[in-house]
Amino acid sequence: MSGYDFDLFVIGGGSGGVRAGRIAAGYGARVAVAEEYRYGGTCVIRGCVPKKLLVYGSEYAHAFRDAAGFGWTVPPVRFDWSAMIAAKDREIARLEKIYRGLFENAGVKTFDGRATLKDEHTVVIGDRTVTADKILIATGGHPVKPAVPGAELMITSNEAFHLKDLPKRVVIIGGGYIALEFAGIFNGFGSQVTVLYRGEQILRGFDDDIRNHLAAEIVKTGIDLRVKSDVTSVEQGDGGLIVHLTDGSTLEVDCVMAATGRSPNTNGLGLEAVGVETDRDGAVVVNAWSQTSVPNIYAVGDVTNRMNLTPVAIREGHAFADTVFGKKPRAADYEYVPAAVFSQPNVGTVGLSDTDARKKFGEIDVYRTIFRPMRATLSGSEERILMKLVVDARTDRVVGAHMVGPEAGEIIQGIAIAIKAGAKKADFDATVGIHPTAAEEFVTLREKVREPVQA
Ligand code: NDP
Repeated sequence: MSGYDFDLFVIGGGSGGVRAGRIAAGYGARVAVAEEYRYGGTCVIRGCVPKKLLVYGSEYAHAFRDAAGFGWTVPPVRFDWSAMIAAKDREIARLEKIYRGLFENAGVKTFDGRATLKDEHTVVIGDRTVTADKILIATGGHPVKPAVPGAELMITSNEAFHLKDLPKRVVIIGGGYIALEFAGIFNGFGSQVTVLYRGEQILRGFDDDIRNHLAAEIVKTGIDLRVKSDVTSVEQGDGGLIVHLTDGSTLEVDCVMAATGRSPNTNGLGLEAVGVETDRDGAVVVNAWSQTSVPNIYAVGDVTNRMNLTPVAIREGHAFADTVFGKKPRAADYEYVPAAVFSQPNVGTVGLSDTDARKKFGEIDVYRTIFRPMRATLSGSEERILMKLVVDARTDRVVGAHMVGPEAGEIIQGIAIAIKAGAKKADFDATVGIHPTAAEEFVTLREKVREPVQA
């Protein structure tokens, strides 16, 4: 036991901080946490969870549309945004209570307020000053807007969860996770959605087939996707917001949402004074053990800008607690981390794109299928599913699996276990499919794609 007030002080009650605090307390550490807003962090309060609830809500639009092909007469439907938001808010309040309870049950002392560092062992929360042997920075990140005139008229994902009314016409800037997820949400609920992406194709960094296929699929759902297009300014007009684009044209809309990336929450924490190093983007610099340049201060999650995904922050927090308080040193593992974009349709991905695999392994085999899902035969929907495997030709190991289609997140989670375990293409081939499913296509991919997939 240290001579400090606490063995561990966690700044930030989000996914990473909560996991680290609870596990450390389980090892017998005296733990405190400070949270300035609501327990649960980005994921629970203004990220993954409310987003997924809105995705579920908006997906009904597709079901209503498809039902006629199966004999249903769907009466005129009406959507009530405020009812959706109220239901979502009730669920978030329930979850927040659970998060706070997790700390209380683990014997963690909670401080409701903003914490700053005074020195490497001293934390100030309002008029309270406490000391701790170890400090964990788990303050997450925040959305950033493009630096153009009229940016103050834009909303970000933070505000999107609390809009009073559903905007009739929305422009979303960005071609990443948040832009595409909210494009699907607003589109499903009936807004007219335009997505502006500055580059050649959305989802930079993803497999090119996924990028191209998703772009084509979301256009089929009615989203106006414009690539090589960006906003130069926004101004208030008489009938709405006027968005000026790089090609000189304008759009009149009710809402402009910036989904142009997130920045680490490091400002005003007192890091410089204490000597905690940050990088150009303001992220806390850490080693593999999540240790900062000040040896007793650690950082996990989005504030370190390593791999900004909730389950990764949780892993980092857990590994930190095991290492520092559990005498079980281990570092978080970033290899073959699966991810999903909850666009409509979903993207699910694990491992390498074919471009990255080719760079890493030289010779690769690529298997790919694009097909009409069985549901679409009767619904008449034009949707197509894409599935793809990338295989290291030398070892036969599957090093990438990618999908665009309904429930791709659910499907890729299962595939990710096989890939993490080192499955070979022969193991996929030896696995019997579940018929009729879409997922069975992953075990019936026989023909290699002949041409190089990308030039
Ligand atoms: P992303 O980094 O995914 O996407 C940002 C997008 O905005 C990119 O398309 C980028 O273009 C574009 N952009 C950046 N700056 C500008 C600018 N000044 N003007 C115009 N366009 C710009 O960020 P998000 O905000 O979507 O999400 C942040 C992170 O949160 C994600 O990367 C992910 O780690 C995490 N997240 C995960 C989710 C999930 O797991 N389902 C859901 C939501 C978020 P370019 O490609 O050219 O840089």
